[in-house]
Amino acid sequence: MHGEVIRVEARCTPAGAACPECAHWTERVHSSYVRFSAELPAAVRRAQLALRVRRFFCTASA
Ligand SMILES: [Zn+2]
Repeated sequence: MHGEVIRVEARCTPAGAACPECAHWTERVHSSYVRFSAELPAAVRRAQLALRVRRFFCTASA
């Protein structure tokens, strides 16, 4: 077990998302990146939680 690192990768990959400002639905992907959780309980601090996040463009004309 020495040196073992548990990596948990969660992906949230919906087809689109609603704009937080105007609620317009968009499926135009702006970017995608992997975020690592920096704060984990001591019992699981050797585990990495990688969360894939996608960002979208708002396609509303206004
Ligand atoms: Zn919008």
